[in-house]
Amino acid sequence: MNVQVNEVWNQFLDTIKASVNQNSYATWFKPIKPLKLEDHSLTIQVPSQFFYEWLEQHYNTVINRSLAQVLGSEYKLVYSIVMDQATQAVHLPATKKTHGRANGHDNLNDRFTFESFVEGDSNKFAKAASMAVAKGPGKTSFNPLVVYGGVGLGKTHLIQAIGNYAKENTDTHRALYVDSERFTQHFIDSIQNNRSTEFSGLYRNVDILIIDDIQFFGNKERTQEEFFHTFNTLHQKGKQIVLSSDRPPKDLKGIEERLISRFQWGLVVDVQQPDLETRQAILQKKAEESGLEMPGEIYHFIATHVTSNIRELEGALIRLLAYSSLNSEDITLSLAKSLLKDVCIRNTKAISIEYIQKVTADYFDFPDDMLRAKTRKKEVAQARQIAMYLSKKMTDSSLKTIGLHFGGRDHSTVIHALNTVDQMIEHDKKIRGIVETIKNKIEIAQL
Ligand code: ADP
Ligand code: MG
Repeated sequence: MNVQVNEVWNQFLDTIKASVNQNSYATWFKPIKPLKLEDHSLTIQVPSQFFYEWLEQHYNTVINRSLAQVLGSEYKLVYSIVMDQATQAVHLPATKKTHGRANGHDNLNDRFTFESFVEGDSNKFAKAASMAVAKGPGKTSFNPLVVYGGVGLGKTHLIQAIGNYAKENTDTHRALYVDSERFTQHFIDSIQNNRSTEFSGLYRNVDILIIDDIQFFGNKERTQEEFFHTFNTLHQKGKQIVLSSDRPPKDLKGIEERLISRFQWGLVVDVQQPDLETRQAILQKKAEESGLEMPGEIYHFIATHVTSNIRELEGALIRLLAYSSLNSEDITLSLAKSLLKDVCIRNTKAISIEYIQKVTADYFDFPDDMLRAKTRKKEVAQARQIAMYLSKKMTDSSLKTIGLHFGGRDHSTVIHALNTVDQMIEHDKKIRGIVETIKNKIEIAQL
């Protein structure tokens, strides 16, 4: 990037700053990266399609006016949109220089660093282990390092931070990040195109191999076979392997024993739900990074009510940002309360078994007392099992209580239902979709 484009860009930002409010500036302008200035056009990079459309719709006039002020009217603006998956998933205004741009070679997103990772009791151990690995890839006994835990708790962030750190601070030449689905797809493509040697060569010649969400290797035998050899080769060469999973390796389904045992050769660590203080610290850090200023009580309010995971915390913050920038309004506690009403209710209002029964029965289009009746008709029995399953997942009720709500069935019937549905979700896409849909309907109705 040349100096000139930066200079022009800074002048441009100064004029923008004078015409929009502080939150809009932080949300929609700070994340933009100027790329080049040539042929009477200024090319800028924005983090997503959504971002581009938003700018076009809301700030077109301001942008053109500022551009004309700085460069004269014959210049035009060209957008370059970052399209990598990582940035698509996260719409928070980007933080530092490169806004989550994925590097073409290693797929690492430079937004995921140890500095931007907030430590708390829930992730202390996982972070310490990741740090150790990042400082000496392949040199500790933590090989492989497996990080597991629920959705949105920072697994991807941590394992990518390892790659980013090692690249900068050790003699790691080649780090490679993929999620297991991309690995699988890549492998299948390589077989179809007679390129399996190339494939093996690529994955077996890195210093650090990071594979995300290995639970999706379940039941993919040939991919597992290939991965088994990749693993062995790297391990023998003293190269670092880092994996993430949504559950402990021993509980992985449809994965060969020999792989599971290898996953446990090194170190297995978990990330847990963050406590209130950590949630608040994370929010504060994210807000700070995007230049947002809010009274402290708002962080506390969000952190108290949004408890499920960190992605949801970010979501809440983005909503506030977007609203305040669109309406040029400062964020106050009462505004936050009204904007996040649905999130808060969802997290506090208890869901009843009766309600789950009603939504489930509605979905399958029969009266909800069928779920409590004796009938063993296949469709009804299956719906009943799903409703039992959701009752267990979505309420705090005991097995006994659940059984009682379903026509006085005993707790072993409920256990059987839970296992059956678990199995079906694992192996049957259609059922998984149905369960997901019903769950969403129940959740939405809570808003
Ligand atoms: P997972 O892979 O476990 O589903 P991610 O790593 O994708 O979760 O995290 C979800 C979002 O929350 C990401 O934007 C990530 O940067 C952020 N995040 C998670 N944990 C932390 C943390 N401890 N500090 C700061 N940000 C975090
Ligand atoms: Mg992840």
